[in-house]
Amino acid sequence: MRDRGADVVAVARVAVPVPLPQPFDYLAPAHGNLPPPGSRVLVPFGPRRLVGLVLGHAEVAESESLKHIERVLDVALIDSDLLELLRRARRYYAFAPGEAVNLLLPGALRRVKPFRAGPPDRLAITAMGQAADVGRARRQAEVLEWLKPGPMTRAELLDRGASAAVLRKLLDKGWIGSASAAAESAVEPGPELNSEQRTALAFILASRYRYRTFLLAGITGSGKTEVYLQAARALLRRGRQILILVPEIGLTPQLIRRVEARLGLSAAVYHSDLSEGERLACWQAAGSGQARVVIGTRSAVFLPLRRPGLIIVDEEHDASFKQQDGARYHGRDLAVMRAHLLGIPIVLGSATPSLESLNNATAGRYQQLSITRRAGTAEPARWSVLDLRGQRVSMHPALLGAIERHLGEAGQVLIYRNRRGYAPVLICPSCGWTADCQRCDAHMTVHQSAGRLQCHHCGAERRLPPRCPECGEPELHTLGAGTERLEQQLQARFPGVPVHRVDRDSMRRRDQFSRLLTEIRRGQPCILVGTQMLAKGHHLPGVTLAAVLDVDQALFSADFRAPERLGQAVCQVAGRAGRGRRPGEFILQSRQPEHPLLAELCRSDYLGFARRLLEERHAAALPPAVALAMLRAEAHDPKRACEFLESAARCLPRSDLRVQGPVPAILTRRGGYSRFQLWLQARERQRLLHLLPGWVEHLHSLPEARRVRWHLDMDPTEI
Ligand code: ADP
Ligand code: ZN
Ligand code: ZN
Repeated sequence: MRDRGADVVAVARVAVPVPLPQPFDYLAPAHGNLPPPGSRVLVPFGPRRLVGLVLGHAEVAESESLKHIERVLDVALIDSDLLELLRRARRYYAFAPGEAVNLLLPGALRRVKPFRAGPPDRLAITAMGQAADVGRARRQAEVLEWLKPGPMTRAELLDRGASAAVLRKLLDKGWIGSASAAAESAVEPGPELNSEQRTALAFILASRYRYRTFLLAGITGSGKTEVYLQAARALLRRGRQILILVPEIGLTPQLIRRVEARLGLSAAVYHSDLSEGERLACWQAAGSGQARVVIGTRSAVFLPLRRPGLIIVDEEHDASFKQQDGARYHGRDLAVMRAHLLGIPIVLGSATPSLESLNNATAGRYQQLSITRRAGTAEPARWSVLDLRGQRVSMHPALLGAIERHLGEAGQVLIYRNRRGYAPVLICPSCGWTADCQRCDAHMTVHQSAGRLQCHHCGAERRLPPRCPECGEPELHTLGAGTERLEQQLQARFPGVPVHRVDRDSMRRRDQFSRLLTEIRRGQPCILVGTQMLAKGHHLPGVTLAAVLDVDQALFSADFRAPERLGQAVCQVAGRAGRGRRPGEFILQSRQPEHPLLAELCRSDYLGFARRLLEERHAAALPPAVALAMLRAEAHDPKRACEFLESAARCLPRSDLRVQGPVPAILTRRGGYSRFQLWLQARERQRLLHLLPGWVEHLHSLPEARRVRWHLDMDPTEI
């Protein structure tokens, strides 16, 4: 309690990048006023100095322990809209103020020492470069040649074989320069929109100056991107900026090029693989308004924008929009909140919308716009289900037959298997020993070419054992097939046909994947085998056959979201087939071919399937029918985790919340920690928002809290 008698002083509440639950108070600098909210400041913190962000002002009792802000680095760097977004996000997701600094300031601006920007990321040939007489500098001439068709990123140039020294020389001579985010080029005309696309566009543009959330539900290849681009064009013409959020894996040079070509300007790109200098440059270009189109992954939702006009969230159902550590926010949901605060429209697009967004559409909070036909002349793929019962192979003979047929007709084939590595299980046929992770409740995956066992949950690795460690049996067996094994099997079965594996092991770098996509688009017959990376949004017109190998695990998962994810993956994979001129075919393998969910998927479309799932969620009182928050605790000793959750449950204020638990996480032990959770459910989201912040603050003072790692997860997507 504040002592009314004592003198009060005005302080700045400063968020500093430390994992503590509260902001810290500082007095104005020794010679100066309190900097306004949004200012970037340098403050003493224990023995250190840190860069912090002023969240607001307050009056507190005068005290000797209060310190002065050492220096104001930037006055009101962050505008009030963004601070308000942050305030709401913090209240909603209950994250520490230190995370706020990480979300709002790029790394370069969090450093105590001033940051020196490196060479620009995107390079373009200058007028001087166009006219330059390069003489005998062959390497420089080469780079200029590469840049003539259009700007390239530094990484792309290095990749092609340009050296950093050559780039520096060209920069110094002024023959190449930063591809300014505002550089305009000729606009490539797009196709004429069909009537469904035109209707969608008309609705979006009708509310171009006010907040409204549109759910653009259009089957794969129905021309959603064309709708985004035309809406973006209309708002660009009015001088507004466009923010496009995409899933992590969706951010490919192909997408960027398409956006740039159709909008006639270069896009500023923001994601976690950029260097600090590149991130800073994008952050500044977005904030100054110089970048008129910004494309980024979830963290781009916190970019400053000068004149925002439209936000687009592509593949809005994608799991990568939810951050799974630190500030556990959902990029899509914050984008909606931001559009609301800014008073601008937002378009959430997907062929397989999340149940959350569909529920919001049903409730009238979002407006659903549907595109039910494929754009142009492409028809949806023909579906069939193969019964895998009684088969001891990972690919049904009829599937192999279909692959052969499609390759013979010069088609490309896409095989989806959501499991990387060679085989999910290594087992001893004599004694039944299996290779398990010592720190997780899980088998280790065999990675044969690397000669290693790997745990896909904690990352633990060890060498493949030459014989059974229990009984010495020299001949160990593998069960099941991951992408690595399928690649081998397909290569053996179809010699002479290129087989490309697409997963995190084979595509370690972003540009490897996009180069492969470029090659595939040339259209030579080939087989693609891969994980989720393949299922997402890519336009591969040469693919005529797509197949999903194994859906059975998801049908019986304990995770209530598993069927939704399954339906999304299946429809996305099916949607890769037949996007060009030739008709497509889609094959699903299952040992449960008459499972009602599969039957529903095959009988109706994704939206019909999703409606049924949504009814089930309502009947079971699960999200999105109710709001769910989860308090998670993990400790080496499972008892400790449970004790903390039990105490936490006891000090919840009496209310109409439904509280369940502690219940074990599906994968209970991971990385040596036993993980438990408390489920908090309420019919009204407001009920949770009302109770949780105070409760979470109180939890920090529980003695049990110090013996566990814990956090609150609002709208959790992993259980
Ligand atoms: P989505 O984003 O829904 O997957 P795209 O916008 O990528 O679909 O469109 C798929 C393909 O169809 C692209 O090659 C695109 O150029 C083309 N396309 C889109 N709209 C039309 C249209 N109205 N007429 C002809 N082709 C179109
Ligand atoms: Zn054995
Ligand atoms: Zn493990």
